[in-house]
Amino acid sequence: MMAPRKKLRLVVIAEPAEGTRSVLVLQTDSPGFRVDADVPDYCCGKCGNILFHGVDINRFVNVVVQCHPCGAFNETIVADDNRVN
Ligand SMILES: [Zn+2]
Repeated sequence: MMAPRKKLRLVVIAEPAEGTRSVLVLQTDSPGFRVDADVPDYCCGKCGNILFHGVDINRFVNVVVQCHPCGAFNETIVADDNRVN
């Protein structure tokens, strides 16, 4: 059995002004990506919902992800205080 994936929280920001950032809007509570890779789960910095499952966020540059359950805007940057309860 595999060990649980490590979970890292992303940095929450205010809603970007229209047209200033690329915003990836998730439409369900499920993660945006599911590929089999040995990387941590990346979670919403506000509510802890998993946004990226099995994808390296370093693939994303200058992208903001909107969490579905809580609507928070997350940078694809891991928060300093990245632990998920
Ligand atoms: Zn959230």
